[in-house]
Amino acid sequence: MSIEKTPITILGAGIAGLAAATALAQRGASVTVLEQASELGEVGAGLQISPNGVAVLGALGLRERAAMLANTPEAVSLRDMASGREVARLAMGATAVSRWGRPYWQFHRADLLGLLAMGAREAGVTVRLGQRVDSIADIDGLVIAADGVRSGVRADVFGGQPAEFTGQVAWRGLIPAGAVPGKIANAATVYMGPGRHLVTYPLRGGSMINFVAVEERKDWAEEGWNIPDTPENLRAAFADSAPEVRGLLKRVEETFLWGLFSHPWLPEWHKDNVALIGDACHPMLPFLAQGAVMALEDAWVLARELDTRGIAAGLVEYERLRKPRATRVQKAAATNATAYHLRPGPLRGAAHLGLSMVSNLAPSALLGKYDWLYGVDVTAGK
Ligand SMILES: Cc1cc2nc3c(=O)[nH]c(=O)nc-3n(C[C@H](O)[C@H](O)[C@H](O)COP(=O)(O)OP(=O)(O)OC[C@H]3O[C@@H](n4cnc5c(N)ncnc54)[C@H](O)[C@@H]3O)c2cc1C
Repeated sequence: MSIEKTPITILGAGIAGLAAATALAQRGASVTVLEQASELGEVGAGLQISPNGVAVLGALGLRERAAMLANTPEAVSLRDMASGREVARLAMGATAVSRWGRPYWQFHRADLLGLLAMGAREAGVTVRLGQRVDSIADIDGLVIAADGVRSGVRADVFGGQPAEFTGQVAWRGLIPAGAVPGKIANAATVYMGPGRHLVTYPLRGGSMINFVAVEERKDWAEEGWNIPDTPENLRAAFADSAPEVRGLLKRVEETFLWGLFSHPWLPEWHKDNVALIGDACHPMLPFLAQGAVMALEDAWVLARELDTRGIAAGLVEYERLRKPRATRVQKAAATNATAYHLRPGPLRGAAHLGLSMVSNLAPSALLGKYDWLYGVDVTAGK
C-alpha cells in the first residue's frame, strides 16, 4: 500500500512527530497529528542540534528560517568544575561547517517546535492540539507513535519493560543573561565535577542562558521534565564549584528536577500498522545531546522508506536502517556521563591531562571522534 492511499495518524507533536508529519506530507501523504498538550512548546529548555540534525531541517525546507532562530556556538568547552579551568576545547562555528558540512546550532525548544509546526501546516498536515490518545485500536491506516520517552503505545502494543533508575538526576532551567555578571561565552560549556556536571549555553541572541545540571544520587526521582524543584537544592549540589558556576546558579529562579532512567532495548519498532519513532523507541540519556537529532533523522528515513517502498516494506527498511545507529548513539550517550563524573584521583588526572593534550596538540583528532555522528547526512541522495 502506498502513502498516498493510506491515512496516517501521528501521536505526538514533538520533534519526531512534527518532522515525520512534514516529511510525509511533502511526499503526498494525508497526515493528522494528535497532540495531548493544548499548546506547543511549553517546555522551556534548550536543544542543541548537531550538523546531522541540521541536514534534516535543510531537507525539510526549514534551514533558512531555522538559521534566524538558532544560536551558533563558537566552541564546546570542557572545564573543571572546582576551578573553572578549561580542560579541552572543540571548535564549532565555521569549523563545524567545514568539517561536517553544516553548522552546529542551539535553539530554544519552543522556537524549534514552532518552526516544525509551521513547516507541517505549510505541507498540509492537520495538527490537532488537546487530543490525548489513550487507545489506538480504532484508528484506521498507519499509526506512527511519536509519543515520547513514556510512550503509551510502546507499553500497550510492544510490551515495553519497566525502565531502571540510573542513579542520576537532572535539573534544567533558563536564566536571563542580563542577571549574570560578566561576559557570557558563546559556547556549550560543560563543567565536569566528581559525580556531577553542568552544561550551559546561551540562547536567543544571548538574551538567556540554558542549563542542565546532573548529579549522581541514590534517591529515586520521577522521570519527566516538568517536576519543579527549589533552586536551593540545585545550588547546594554545586556549592563547591568555581565562583563563575556559583554566580550563575545564584540567578536561578525556577528549576525542574527529574530522574534519568535507562530503558531496555526494544526488539521491535513496528508491528502491523503501528510504528514507533523518536524517544518512543530509543529513549536515551541526555549526555550526547542527540535525542532530538535522532528523532529528526528517524523522521526523514521513515518518510523516505514508506514513500519509496510502500507501507509494509518501508517499515521493515526504516527499522533496519535506523536501529544500529540509534543504538550506537544510546550507548555513546551513556558512556559520556562516566567520563564527565570522574572522582579525584589518578584516573581523573590522567583523563583530563590526555584531553587537554589532544585538544592543544591535535584538535582535529578530538573533532574526529564525532565524525561518525555529525558527519552523517541521512537525507543525502533523496
Ligand atoms: C532538558 C533536556 C535537554 C535536552 N537536550 C537535547 C539536546 O540538546 N539535543 C538533542 O538532540 N536532544 C536533547 N534532549 C532530548 C530531546 O528533548 C528528546 O530526545 C526529544 O524531545 C524527543 O522527541 P520526541 O518527539 O520523540 O518526543 P517528545 O519531544 O517527548 O514529544 C512527544 C510528544 O507526544 C505527546 N504525547 C505523549 N503522549 C501522548 C498521547 N497519549 N496522546 C497525544 N500526545 C501525546 C507529548 O505531549 C509530546 O508533545 C533533551 C532532553 C531534555 C529533557
